[in-house]
Amino acid sequence: MAILPRSLVAQTSLSVGCFFSDSNCLSLAKAPANSGRIADERFSRIIEHAHAKVPFYVDRLRPIPRHIDTLEYLATISVTTKDDVEAHFPDGMTDDSDPADWRMMSTRGTAQRLITIQGFAKRDAVRAAQLRSLRLSGGYRPGMPMVEIPPEICEIVCGEEGEQEQGVLSHAWGMLRRGQLRDKKAVRDLRGLVERHWILNRKMYPGFGRHGSHPPTEVLDEYLLRLRRDRPYVLKALATYLVAIARHIHTENLPPLQIPVIKTMGSRVTPGQRPLLEQAFGGVYWDDYGSAEFGAIACECEHHNGLHVFDDFFIVEVVDAEGHPVADGQRGWIVVTDLMNTTMPLIRYKIGDVGVIDHQPCACGRSGPRITVEGRAHDTLVDSQGGWRTTDDVVDFLEQCPGVVAGQVCALGSQRYELTLIEDTHVALDQEALREQFAEWIGGQPTVKLQTATTLRPEAGGKFRYVRGDLERSSNHGSVG
Ligand SMILES: [Zn+2]
Repeated sequence: MAILPRSLVAQTSLSVGCFFSDSNCLSLAKAPANSGRIADERFSRIIEHAHAKVPFYVDRLRPIPRHIDTLEYLATISVTTKDDVEAHFPDGMTDDSDPADWRMMSTRGTAQRLITIQGFAKRDAVRAAQLRSLRLSGGYRPGMPMVEIPPEICEIVCGEEGEQEQGVLSHAWGMLRRGQLRDKKAVRDLRGLVERHWILNRKMYPGFGRHGSHPPTEVLDEYLLRLRRDRPYVLKALATYLVAIARHIHTENLPPLQIPVIKTMGSRVTPGQRPLLEQAFGGVYWDDYGSAEFGAIACECEHHNGLHVFDDFFIVEVVDAEGHPVADGQRGWIVVTDLMNTTMPLIRYKIGDVGVIDHQPCACGRSGPRITVEGRAHDTLVDSQGGWRTTDDVVDFLEQCPGVVAGQVCALGSQRYELTLIEDTHVALDQEALREQFAEWIGGQPTVKLQTATTLRPEAGGKFRYVRGDLERSSNHGSVG
């Protein structure tokens, strides 16, 4: 089916599906003009709810009034860390709603894995935010072909993408057999599956699996063949996979693909990698930000100058080690307040990423805050002057070194570093020169140990970790997670 009619059919089916399952998803997916006022209202509602119904916050929010109508109290609330969540989960972190409506979401983080709980209303908001993100950054409309290559994991509870995969027909057959045709939850689940498989037109490819970060040429050729055949409008994949496929096209001098929209999932593409991706895939890279706890949080507009926060769904701040907001453009820890999850509210939650925020209006006309995420806090190095070297900095530094295709850096403490490098088969690597270059870059008198490898292995969650940093170790203010 051609893209336009398919998209019209998809849009109509989505509306019908939402109507029958009491879903608000499509109207939520439209970014409202008065998001500031909506955020105020939702913030006061979530504070009131958490104050009354969630034991952890009953305690935490005691110093502030139960009824507030603006964000002015926000900065007075202590941040919620992953340790807090772990220590009070589940009873202390959840409200008194019916657990039959709960869904567990497991984070796929490489440092500290957590489970968060979402009720129906939050799941609806997650769907809406995902649609909004796809629409705003890249012009995707439901029905357009999309290919996803998620990090390869094999677990009962899935991460970011939510529910465990089950076929539409087998779910429908199960409902029929169990006499659940009028069961609201079963109908909602069926809607979700139809949406994913039939309406949104999403295909999923397996990840690189045992091949690690750098699969052999014939494996990469297979991905190319499939992508040329499926001709997706959007390609959404783990950054490591995107970069490996793009580099393969580049080094083998193959004709570029023609995929208009390139996105990453569950990982970061660094500023230095963008041109390679855009050239090889023949489209535009659109950055976005999200997590298993929250769903899609922010995305780029056509100016590609920071990510617009969905500020009717979330309040995003960048704070220092004490939890005080930092000035625009200054690096800090990202904290997120979810305005849509009443089941397990997360207020000023330290998500574990570092970045900067910009409150200036964007050239596109939108006035909400924009964030730039630069990597995980646990994956940030502290240089000899106390400055931060984020994952983006480290990856871009290594990949511009002659003879290096990719690498990992591990901070061992006391200025000792271990570098694992994938060598470029076309350019010789001068290990001594690289050691010196790294020492100069990180500063001081570091001890640098080098080793080479043919491929890098993913962590248990299927993601690749390029840096084991020392920021959280060197910070005196406890673990941030
Ligand atoms: Zn903009």
